[in-house]
Amino acid sequence: MKLFDLTGRVAVVTGGNGGIGLGMARGLAAAGAKVVVAGRNAAKSAAAAQEIGGIAIEVDVLQEADCRALVHKTVAQLGRLDILVNNAGINIRKQPQEYTLDEWRRVLDSNLTGAFVCAQAAYPEMLKVGGGKVINIGSMMSIFGASFTTPYAASKGGIVQMTRAMSCAWAKDKIQVNAVLPGWIDTELTRGARQDVAGLHERVLARTPAGRWGEPADFAGIAVFLASSASDFLTGTAIPVDGGYSVQG
Ligand code: NDP
Repeated sequence: MKLFDLTGRVAVVTGGNGGIGLGMARGLAAAGAKVVVAGRNAAKSAAAAQEIGGIAIEVDVLQEADCRALVHKTVAQLGRLDILVNNAGINIRKQPQEYTLDEWRRVLDSNLTGAFVCAQAAYPEMLKVGGGKVINIGSMMSIFGASFTTPYAASKGGIVQMTRAMSCAWAKDKIQVNAVLPGWIDTELTRGARQDVAGLHERVLARTPAGRWGEPADFAGIAVFLASSASDFLTGTAIPVDGGYSVQG
């Protein structure tokens, strides 16, 4: 269906070499987009890019220059930039009183500041092609709290508010900015959490109406929808993709 066709579009997915990012990258590629897999681990990114017929560009979203170079290299190699998925993210699990300031900053800078800089760098390129799509990845921690995740929750709450503010600014330019809030998804990130936090696996299963953890493949559809003309009048939203976790009373 044309509504969801991404033929001729170019997408950048930060952290696209694994987990949720790769799930989204696969969806975008299947819908016809040329996808840039952007991450620090060059070998992992190259393998993912080869699988989906895209290209890999090395980036550390903690480095402003890297984020700006990512956009320049994308346009130099693929001619344009239409879609940016700000998915790269980390967590450091501790009680709030235990974080060093460096750890706090590392989480905020990876998850929130990196997304801001990538979006800012992408903006002029999206203007040149007459519009664009920015998809920011939040979390259930954009809505809820947990004792072991203070900087992460701050960064993911910030993602939602940044999304709203940017969507207001850029709607006139035909750039839609939306956030996706994943529930509990089986990836490297949460495999660590399940080791560190006793009972987490069972608590998630019990609270998720769908009765299972999510999979990276669950993010292909929402990525295509938010990247395509099907969502042209949708902006500033934060959409949970969580098997019902956030609505279970
Ligand atoms: P993974 O750990 O599997 O993937 C994280 C990705 O981010 C990797 O591809 C990694 O690539 C990249 N990344 C991390 N730091 C940087 C950096 N400084 N520069 C560039 N890339 C970086 O985790 P998930 O797939 O689970 O997480 C993806 C996103 O989804 C994150 O924003 C996370 O917060 C969010 N999320 C995940 C949930 C879950 O249950 N799994 C729930 C809610 C949100 P590389 O190492 O090569 O740099």
